[in-house]
Amino acid sequence: RIVFVNGEWKPEAEATISVFDRGLLFADAIYEVTAVINRKLIDYPGHTARLKRSLEALGIPAPVSDSELLDLHRQIIERNDLESGLIYLQISRGAADRDFLFADGMKPSIIMFTQKKNVLENTKWETGLSVVTVPEGRWANRQIKTVQLLYSSMVKTEAAKAGADDVFLVEDGLITEASSSNVHIVTKDGVLVTRHLSNALLHGITRASVLSLAQGSDLKVEERAFSVDEVLSAAEVFITSASAFVMPVVRVDGRSIGDGKPGPVSRKLLQTYIQDRLANAI
Ligand code: PLP
Repeated sequence: RIVFVNGEWKPEAEATISVFDRGLLFADAIYEVTAVINRKLIDYPGHTARLKRSLEALGIPAPVSDSELLDLHRQIIERNDLESGLIYLQISRGAADRDFLFADGMKPSIIMFTQKKNVLENTKWETGLSVVTVPEGRWANRQIKTVQLLYSSMVKTEAAKAGADDVFLVEDGLITEASSSNVHIVTKDGVLVTRHLSNALLHGITRASVLSLAQGSDLKVEERAFSVDEVLSAAEVFITSASAFVMPVVRVDGRSIGDGKPGPVSRKLLQTYIQDRLANAI
C-alpha cells in the first residue's frame, strides 16, 4: 500500500513516525474511518465535520485545509487503486519530548492508509451478530473520536474468545455503544430507539444518516437511553458504523432477539442506507 505520512506518500514499509509522537505515547490523537464504494467517499461531509469537532475538543490545529483534505482522500484512492474499502485518517498533536503538559506550537502529525475490502459484501448481514454485555470502562469523553481504543479492543477480544462477535458496553444498566458502533433497538411496537447524543457515546455518522432515513419513512424514532432488558425484549437490535453500515444483532448474552434472525426493519434500513448514501457519495 501507499500511505500518507506527514506530507509524503510512501510505500507502507518505508513510512515512519517519531517515537516521541504524542499519538504513540499518550493516545493524544483523533481519527476517522470513511468507506469507499466505486472509488467514491461515503458520508464524507459528516466524517470531516466530526474530525474538526474532535480536533477542536483537544485543541489540535487542523494540519490541512478542507480542500487539501478532500484532495488527500481522492489521491489515496487513486494511488492505491481503491475500488472499495476503507480510508483511515489519524491526526495527533505531534512529536515533543515526553511531558504530560501539551507543548505550545506543536506541529500535528497526519497519517492515512487504506484497507481494501468489498464493503458491499458482508456475510454477517445475513446471519446477524452475537454479542455479550460488558461494563463500560472507557473514559468519559466518548464524543471525541480519539485513538484510546484499548478497553474496547480488550473486551472485544475476550468476547471473541468466548465465541461472540462483539460487546455492548453497559453503564448504570444502560447501553452506551458496541465496541466500535452505535446500538439501536426496534421495540415490539415498531419504535426505533437509539441513545440520545451526549458525551457518553460517539456521535456516529452512520447513526445520523440512518436516523434521518428512518425519520423520512413512517418509522417512529425515539432518542433516549435504553436498558439491557429493553434490548433483550426488543423485536430487533442492530448496530451502525462506517464499515458495517447497518448490522443486525440476533443474540445478546446468549438469548435470541425476536426470532433470532435479522429483522425486516434492519434489512430495510441497510438497503435504504446503501442506496441513499451511494447516490450521495462524492
Ligand atoms: N461508536 C464507536 C465507539 C466507534 O468507534 C464508531 C466507529 O468507529 C461508531 C460508534 C460508529 O461511528 P460511525 O458511524 O461514524 O462510523
